[in-house]
Amino acid sequence: MPDQLGNRAVVLGGSLAGLLAADVLAGVYPEVVVVDRDELAGVTGPRRGVPHGRHAHGLVGRGQQIFEKRFPGLMAELEAAGVRPGDFSGAIRWYFNGMQLRQAQTGLLSVPCTRPVIERFVRGRVEAISNVRFLQQYDIVGLETTPDAARVTGVRVQARDGGSGPEVLSADLVIDTTGRGSRTPVWLEELGYSRPTEDRVKVDLAYTTRHYRVPRDPFGSDIAIIAAATPSHPRGAFYYRLPGEDGRVELSLTGVLGDHPPTDPEGFLAFVRSLPVPEIYESIREAEPIDDPVMFRFPASVRRRYERLSRFPEGLLVMGDAVCSFNPVYAQGMAVAAIESQVLADQLTKAKVPPAREFFQAISRQIDSPWDFAAIADLGYSGVEGRRTAKVRMINSYVARLQRAAVHDESLTNAFMRVAGLVDEPSALLRPGRVLRTFRQAGGRAQAATAPLAEARD
Ligand SMILES: Cc1cc2nc3c(=O)[nH]c(=O)nc-3n(C[C@H](O)[C@H](O)[C@H](O)COP(=O)(O)OP(=O)(O)OC[C@H]3O[C@@H](n4cnc5c(N)ncnc54)[C@H](O)[C@@H]3O)c2cc1C
Repeated sequence: MPDQLGNRAVVLGGSLAGLLAADVLAGVYPEVVVVDRDELAGVTGPRRGVPHGRHAHGLVGRGQQIFEKRFPGLMAELEAAGVRPGDFSGAIRWYFNGMQLRQAQTGLLSVPCTRPVIERFVRGRVEAISNVRFLQQYDIVGLETTPDAARVTGVRVQARDGGSGPEVLSADLVIDTTGRGSRTPVWLEELGYSRPTEDRVKVDLAYTTRHYRVPRDPFGSDIAIIAAATPSHPRGAFYYRLPGEDGRVELSLTGVLGDHPPTDPEGFLAFVRSLPVPEIYESIREAEPIDDPVMFRFPASVRRRYERLSRFPEGLLVMGDAVCSFNPVYAQGMAVAAIESQVLADQLTKAKVPPAREFFQAISRQIDSPWDFAAIADLGYSGVEGRRTAKVRMINSYVARLQRAAVHDESLTNAFMRVAGLVDEPSALLRPGRVLRTFRQAGGRAQAATAPLAEARD
């Protein structure tokens, strides 16, 4: 392994956040090394380092826009491989509270595809960049720093085949994208820094996923059927066609607060039957299972507040799930990683080693809205611990009304999907015209409702 100190950036973790970071860094650093414990080259299926990769993944509007901008032609490549992007509402049957929202043409593309597929195509693009090198099947063991620990100078890595001891990979900039299990908080403590504080929303969620071959296409011109989990109907499902014309589908069931979708075939089917969306059960009850159901547990959403640390070593940044691991039912993680990669690109125009504090503050501003959107919705479940201010209660009650009104009013579906797609800020739902339409449709009195809503907008 060549190891001269020079203009090198090292990315820890070669999943989506790492790939996005490497792509950005390659425009600035002569050499970018991506380290991952898994074998990556040529891998087309799920891999050990990304156990959540076996479960439904969709790229929402804003994420799709950034991925396509960074990797022009990516959508066409995915389509050529059989993936069907489609309108985020016009081509998806969204059910909230047991009712289907009226479909609207949002102009936003959603990409429901398996996680290994999107990762493979993005990785293909990054592998093609001549100054990016992948160090596969290497464990990241720790950081190298100057004697006073003021600056990170590289990382210690170790080949997984155990044939040699730890090796040092020097770097001017190290970016940790090792996901939710990131060791940076521990490393900081060992180096004499404080750990970041963490915000947590305990949802005790599980995904259980199974693949089938269906005898009849349940989707028609649509690309997916989604039963969104809500406090009144907490069991959810993501159901979509797999790439190819052979009738294969992926069904991920979701259950919160310990109501986990079972992994035994009978229990799995019973859970499907209990969904407030009969068409999913009707579609798969006679389908041919391709594999056994597999579960992934997600105890809590976690946001690490790096932006609040007063001291942080130079030459180290953290991105992606390692900073914020969102409740996955809102499908935000990949899109937020993409947004963070734009922040990184912007910061690198000012300094080759962006100051950590500025970087963390800038990504924190981007994380605020999606985090609040998800955390507030989760607080709608009475079993989720957390402070329910009047604002939280009011927003949840309003959004539930808006979802009911969107069953009849496609402009409200459009407004909601633009927020869920991370294109508009959540406050866009509180524009007076939308509040009026919500209450008119829901049969309530708009006047009485708009006063407290105006406060929530502030
Ligand atoms: C069930 C589930 C469903 C989801 N659905 C969606 C969705 O629909 N839409 C969406 O946008 N997001 C979704 N997400 C979130 C999304 O998966 C992540 O946000 C996205 O993968 C970015 O993650 P990451 O690259 O930061 O980390 P990860 O994907 O966790 O990758 C971390 C990488 O680091 C490597 N690594 C870790 N530790 C070490 C080590 N010590 N040494 C070497 N390598 C190491 C791993 O092998 C892995 O490659 C979902 C998440 C879950 C859990």
